[in-house]
Amino acid sequence: AYIITSPCIGEKAADCVDVCPVDCIAEGDDQFFIDPDICIDCGACEAVCPVQAIYYEEDVPPEETEYIQKAIEFYKTY
Ligand code: SF4
Repeated sequence: AYIITSPCIGEKAADCVDVCPVDCIAEGDDQFFIDPDICIDCGACEAVCPVQAIYYEEDVPPEETEYIQKAIEFYKTY
């Protein structure tokens, strides 16, 4: 799955929501989240994010890896 990381906080541009072909990006309090169970790894969201907040899970920078768990937690209660 692709993961939305810290640059989304305070930005929430939502360009990703418009391009996702499976509509798996939802708005949280401080950022958007990708549902890792539905994401088909197409990469469309990564390309349009104006703040480069989105990474493929294996490419998330070490200081941003907490956002992988944050997305999982978000969809547990969504
Ligand atoms: Fe949606 Fe594709 Fe981004 Fe996954 S990689 S969240 S399917 S746009």
